[in-house]
Amino acid sequence: MERQTWSLPAIDLKRCTGCGWCVERCPTHAVELVAHKAVIVRPTDCTYCDICETYCPAGAIGRPFIVVFAPDQRLSSGEQQP
Ligand code: SF4
Ligand code: SF4
Repeated sequence: MERQTWSLPAIDLKRCTGCGWCVERCPTHAVELVAHKAVIVRPTDCTYCDICETYCPAGAIGRPFIVVFAPDQRLSSGEQQP
């Protein structure tokens, strides 16, 4: 069975001021304010675009990325298999 995974923007609640810019600019309405803090309330609607990260004036939103090498690329780059 294929395993389905997806990532969501990470919100630093200590930095979030509750200004609502991300809520106004999110094209899919995936983020809302809950108790004056930004929360991804509709995770399956998040397209992982860069809008909230770009516009957050507090730098409270980031999109973590994981670099994954395909097996043949790992071999051709000389990296040892674990
Ligand atoms: S734009 Fe940034 S500071 Fe403003 S509500 Fe969203 S996460 Fe919080
Ligand atoms: S990454 Fe894009 S779609 Fe996802 S919450 Fe931020 S603005 Fe909305």
